[in-house]
Amino acid sequence: MVVSGRLGRFVVVAVTLMMFLPMALFPQRPRGDSLLSGISSGKTRVLDLSYAINDKLVPWPGDKRWFEAQVNATVEKNGYFTRSFWMLEHYGTHLDAPIHFPPGKATVDQIAAKQFFGPAVVLDVREEGAKDADYQAPVSRVEQWEKKHGRILEGSIVLLRTGWAARWPDAQKYRNQDAQGKMHFPGFSAEAAKLLILREVSGIGCDTMSADYGASEDFAVHHLVLGAGLYQLENLSDLSGLPEAGAFLVVAPIKLDGGSGGAVRVFAIWQ
Ligand SMILES: [Zn+2]
Repeated sequence: MVVSGRLGRFVVVAVTLMMFLPMALFPQRPRGDSLLSGISSGKTRVLDLSYAINDKLVPWPGDKRWFEAQVNATVEKNGYFTRSFWMLEHYGTHLDAPIHFPPGKATVDQIAAKQFFGPAVVLDVREEGAKDADYQAPVSRVEQWEKKHGRILEGSIVLLRTGWAARWPDAQKYRNQDAQGKMHFPGFSAEAAKLLILREVSGIGCDTMSADYGASEDFAVHHLVLGAGLYQLENLSDLSGLPEAGAFLVVAPIKLDGGSGGAVRVFAIWQ
């Protein structure tokens, strides 16, 4: 069939629209969608970056009580099993909310939910940390990552992989205190924290007790990061299985009304 003139152009436009409109309305599944659908099929890898909570974890030096659980009902007595527990907000794998340090304001329940989902940027400083327990990851370490993987995306969550998880839950090795009681483990430098804030990341995290290095006295990273409205993840479990780039994080803190922070479950997914 030959269609010419104005009608022909109309037919061509109509046929083109019919062919491409469905593609415009129902585009190919985005990568994130296949990443999620791949979880049930096993195509997507899932890593839990949190420690199970019990009374044997490493508390901050000086804390007198950290975790207590008691059985309230048993199957034998009551037909069901329940417990009650008490714990510090900052114990085990936990999240520091902005209000934890001035001038931050948001409590753990007030952090925007979208901040809990983002690409994982893994800064591997295991070698540096093994040589120098007071290592503070400098700006150049962030720039090195960007040279390899591209500029850090807004909404990323930047994790410092120090290898300290290998010492967990041995309090002596994990805190690494000297004769004066000062702790020694690696952390972010204040300058690197400033650059990450400029990159508009959602949060930072580490496999040590603190985002600041152990010997810090001014907690400069805490003041900067929390002051800028970001959160910190501390005592993350073994990060050695994570790729330096390409994983996606799901951060799920307890929604504690008015909390300065709290227990958090962190998952990494990637293909
Ligand atoms: Zn904390």
